[in-house]
Amino acid sequence: MEYQDNTGKTHVLVIPYIAQGHVIPLLELAQCLISHGMKVTFVNTEVNHKLVMKTWLERDSFGPLMRMVAIPDGMEPWEDRNDFVRSCETINQVMPRKLEELIDTINETDDDKISCVIADMGMPWAIRVAEKLRIQRVLFWSAPAAALAATLSLQKLIDDGIIDNDGVPLHENTFQLSPTMPSMTSAEFGWTCMGSLATIKTLFKFALNAVETAKAAQWKICNSTTELESATFNMFPNLVPIGPLLASNRLAKQAGHFWKQDMTCLEWLDQQPACSVIYVAFGSFTIFNQTQFQELALGLELTNRPFLWVVRPGLTNESSDTYLDGYMDRIGTRGKIVSWAPQQEVLAHLSIACFLSHCGWNSTLEGVSHGVPFLCWPYFVDQLLNRTYICDIWMNGLGFEKDENRIIRREEIKNKVDMLVNNGEFKTRALDLKEKVMNSIREDGSSNKNFKHLIQWMKEKKQ
Ligand code: UDP
Repeated sequence: MEYQDNTGKTHVLVIPYIAQGHVIPLLELAQCLISHGMKVTFVNTEVNHKLVMKTWLERDSFGPLMRMVAIPDGMEPWEDRNDFVRSCETINQVMPRKLEELIDTINETDDDKISCVIADMGMPWAIRVAEKLRIQRVLFWSAPAAALAATLSLQKLIDDGIIDNDGVPLHENTFQLSPTMPSMTSAEFGWTCMGSLATIKTLFKFALNAVETAKAAQWKICNSTTELESATFNMFPNLVPIGPLLASNRLAKQAGHFWKQDMTCLEWLDQQPACSVIYVAFGSFTIFNQTQFQELALGLELTNRPFLWVVRPGLTNESSDTYLDGYMDRIGTRGKIVSWAPQQEVLAHLSIACFLSHCGWNSTLEGVSHGVPFLCWPYFVDQLLNRTYICDIWMNGLGFEKDENRIIRREEIKNKVDMLVNNGEFKTRALDLKEKVMNSIREDGSSNKNFKHLIQWMKEKKQ
């Protein structure tokens, strides 16, 4: 995709981390930049670029001010990109040079030289590249701001005995960065839930390096709002909320999917009564064991309510036979199962009653922004913090209890669905929160003002 004949623009390079939950919000940010008359070069890895282009719909076209480009991540095509240690090491070795070459080439050939790099915190080296090339630098954080605040406070957490010098949790206790901030546990850090001690130590080194590199960024922007995380933004005024980044914020639709969206679910939703459907989706990473998967299937059946369930390729650790015999026949048209949904359009649909979610931050923001109450089924990292926000602070949802084998049973699923849907207070609070959050991106809203300052700064710095 080439941009044409649009000279005299501020030209920004945007680079997401290699995961789905990073590409989608940064593409939304890119659209916001374009709507302010800027030019964007959006850099994916070659593997992700192919995925995104394959699912790209005509309606997603961003017009001539946007160019999607790819650089290699240094791994072989068949290698596992979810192997964090391997992918972080290879990316660090290969991508900085490739990015520098890309910027040099663009700046030699394009009338509008790249004047600013917006780099995901998962790609901190891109900030270093920009610094070396004397380009403006903005760091983007795709999870709750409280999690960034904790990451930037690693030394304090070591001093307080929460983690040791290698990032290893010293106990399971919760901690708070300030009395008004949500409580967290060390399990919420990306490196602590990644298996062996050696892996934890290696990933912790990457985190320390990212924290050090973050100092070279002139802005640290977060996909969040003061309305959602006021305590964090009061305590850490150098973090700037500009979210929620949503497709519905513009005329464009959500883009950047790694899997093809099954649009038939929208027609199915049209057939369902208002506020009746349980939407069930676990994002792009989560993996179920077979027992838990079947228990969820049976729990949804037991609710006796319509449900739309995203069963992503690879959602279970079994290769086939994931449903029990006769399940599909029993469910009939009451349940719709798709491999990937147009999630933001689903959440905007009037038939949706609640969102049974793994509480990834994007899913959390998308549910909140559409006034949908949650049933929280978090796995790890910031999903646990997001559950705390939903259940204890915003109070627009409920969590599940596990049994002694750490399984969420079908009866628990049915009971919590009933409790949530039959108690109108959850919906009322969800709608109140929606109103506040959406106000933040309206003309005089807090996030919108911050975003406009950022744009102004980028445009001034360009001159
Ligand atoms: N998503 C989607 N269709 C689906 C499931 C998820 O479009 O069927 C999108 C969702 O809207 C969100 C992203 O994928 O923008 C998932 O990000 P999140 O932070 O919620 O979870 P992660 O995948 O990072 O665990």
